Amino acid sequence: MPDATCYAQVTVTLPLSGPYTYLVPDHLRPHAAVGSRVLVPFGRRTVTGYITAFAPPSKKIRVKKIIDTLDPCPLFTPGMVPLFQWIADYYIAPMGDVIKTALPGGLNVVDRQVVSLTTSGTRAAADPACPETEKELLDILGNTPVPLKQLLDSEPPIPRSLIKVLENKGWVTVTRELSTARARAKMETVAEAASGPLPKKGVTEKRQLLLDFLRVHGPTARADLNRKLPSAKSTLGPMVEMGLIHLSEDRVERSPLGEEIVPDTPPSLTDEQQQVVSTVSAQLSSGYATFLLKGVTGSGKTEVYMRLVEDALAAGKTAVVLVPEIALIAQTDRRFKARFGDRIAVLHSGLSDGERYDQWVKIAEKRVSVVIGARSAIFAPLTDIGLIVVDEEHDGSYKQESGLRYNARDLAAVRARMEGAVVLLGSATPSIQSAWNARTGKFKEVLLTKRVNQKPMPEIEVVDLKKYKDLPGIHTFLTPRLVEAMTQTLDRDEQVLLFLNRRGFSGAPICAHCGEPLKCRHCDVSMTFHKGVNAFRCHICGYFEPAKTHCRICNGHKIKLLGSGTEKVEEAVKDIFPHKNVARMDQDTTARRGSLLKILKGVREKQVDIVVGTQMIAKGHDFPDITLVGVICADTALNLPDFRAGERTFQLLAQVAGRAGRGDKPGRVILQTYVPDHFTIGCAVDHDADAFYTQETSFRRALAYPPFTRIILVRIADKNSGRCRTAAQKLSGLLWERRPDQGIAIMGPAEAPLTRAMNRYRWQILLKGESPSAMKKMITDALAAFRKEGGFSGVSISIDVDPYALG
Ligand code: ADP
Ligand code: ZN
Repeated sequence: MPDATCYAQVTVTLPLSGPYTYLVPDHLRPHAAVGSRVLVPFGRRTVTGYITAFAPPSKKIRVKKIIDTLDPCPLFTPGMVPLFQWIADYYIAPMGDVIKTALPGGLNVVDRQVVSLTTSGTRAAADPACPETEKELLDILGNTPVPLKQLLDSEPPIPRSLIKVLENKGWVTVTRELSTARARAKMETVAEAASGPLPKKGVTEKRQLLLDFLRVHGPTARADLNRKLPSAKSTLGPMVEMGLIHLSEDRVERSPLGEEIVPDTPPSLTDEQQQVVSTVSAQLSSGYATFLLKGVTGSGKTEVYMRLVEDALAAGKTAVVLVPEIALIAQTDRRFKARFGDRIAVLHSGLSDGERYDQWVKIAEKRVSVVIGARSAIFAPLTDIGLIVVDEEHDGSYKQESGLRYNARDLAAVRARMEGAVVLLGSATPSIQSAWNARTGKFKEVLLTKRVNQKPMPEIEVVDLKKYKDLPGIHTFLTPRLVEAMTQTLDRDEQVLLFLNRRGFSGAPICAHCGEPLKCRHCDVSMTFHKGVNAFRCHICGYFEPAKTHCRICNGHKIKLLGSGTEKVEEAVKDIFPHKNVARMDQDTTARRGSLLKILKGVREKQVDIVVGTQMIAKGHDFPDITLVGVICADTALNLPDFRAGERTFQLLAQVAGRAGRGDKPGRVILQTYVPDHFTIGCAVDHDADAFYTQETSFRRALAYPPFTRIILVRIADKNSGRCRTAAQKLSGLLWERRPDQGIAIMGPAEAPLTRAMNRYRWQILLKGESPSAMKKMITDALAAFRKEGGFSGVSISIDVDPYALG
């Protein structure tokens, strides 16, 4: 009877290849589908897994049973399994890691071992003859079981042997229990009036009131009931006992709603917008294609996205809109909500685990047809996707920089190809990669060349900082030219935005005696002084040192605070314009939930005259009264040891400049720099993206950098510097042995530009070539050999395919 047995392929969330075959017990069959989260026995443990297929085991083996299913619905669609497989292959990662990365956080259930006291253990603890060390452990256990790991990791650690001794004496037991997941469906009790006639006795007036209430309002959550009808607290219990009211458990949805949003009326499109919408929309019925929308800042790209999403929905399809994290919180999601109301689900890191889980289930149950979110929204469990929009496609935040280092923009194209959907990448300053794809015909290009209502691009004036470097104090970075422009703007009652891509007060503290920089104890970088908390901080690991510190080289106690960050600029601005309201917007002032919204609201409502910020202020915001943008130092990022330094600088400057003059009044930009003649700066000043692209592309071609080659970066890290170097050399040797005769270059091993981070030394090997599959095969084989030989068990090795940052 083959039909009687149902086998599932389950991928477990452990870094193992899998999948593994399990038997689906009869009672779980109705709940088991591809995408279902299940609890399975694995070795001696119980872990979470996901069903990725139904198929019998390939050979005759003893198969274990699935223990339970965990959610009201599958968490991903069958159509996403090939996507996961593609990712596992492309990014050289275990399938379990891919699924874990794709799904909302906080879902994993894993078992753990706990130690508990037995009755004879309790008696032994009370016995004066009990040895001291044993009594200590028995006392720690007390009445509640303690996780084994907690005991082993305590300070000082409890030896495993001691626990074993007590276990043998029968004083403690070690058992396994499940740790609960942080995110799951939220349940509440709902009361409902039973039908049928009332009994003659026992229905008091108060009880009748409750019954009437439920008959009028229908089933009501107990919490609501208690609020609306306080007498229900005492009457509900007896009524349930009498069988007149039924209680049931129901799933409720946590709603991450912020302010109330008023529906908007779509404006009529400009000719250019109409042209773009028609072109892209026509493709919706013919399947996969990628469009690159080059649209200057303020040209109305968001309106184009919304029209196309509407067209996709009208065709019975769904849509995904990816935006950089910050734009989401700022306003893009409000504009979409105003247009699409409750047909939208939102996914971003500002949600709690529970809220994100609820949004996820809402998508999986097909209750919404548009998902707007940051990079992880590319994994939204939608079916029938017609359109994927990637706004500000050049933005670095689409690349995940830890764990599975995927790029959501690239995955958008992969997923769209699998689902026959259309991709629209939009930007005022497309990445070199995408611009190249458009030039070679891989992407189709659509253009918005004019700002809505023909508003001109802001005029950019360059100020040479070299001329001011000997001026005293704050005027070295707030030059007289900039201060003058600020005064004029503020006198007209308009707003000023000052941009500097460095937070804190001083980014280069040095010892006044010996001139050595003050570095982090755990990383090879300078500390940053933060005046707000009066301490030095490391931006890599968070290490903290009080303001009264000393030089570790000469013990000198005077530290000079060189280099300026947003805090210093803010202080200087307050000093020059004491009667103006200044707001600072950076990671430090926006860490708390809701604080960013508050700052943005202040700017929008003009309670703020001057806003100082990092690149956070460069993205997406649309403030009509900002007419002056001041760039404090345009070249902070230009000298980084990274082939993308020029590209990033150009994009950032164009974006910041794009914040000026979006309303009726013309905008103006003052750009301060030490290198006014630099090509990148010149192109930004002239708003000449084409010139920049032409030059940058030929530079990339000459040096064989992407988009002309592919890069894979292998990072090696270890606490011990010698071991780290040896491991890097070993791995590099294994790679060389596997290198084909031509087509792949191996660079390194070399110390990473950031040589030590969080107490770990860092080395790297860079592979460059035209065929990613050949490079991947080399790496997979070399890694397998590396692991097989052993000897480097603690060394961490991570692989970054198409790295964004080469540090
Ligand atoms: P971008 O994303 O290209 O920088 P936005 O989409 O933010 O530009 O649009 C800039 C401003 O123009 C917004 O305030 C938007 O509401 C407005 N806008 C967009 N399209 C139109 C249109 N067709 N008619 C009138 N206003 C428009
Ligand atoms: Zn550090």
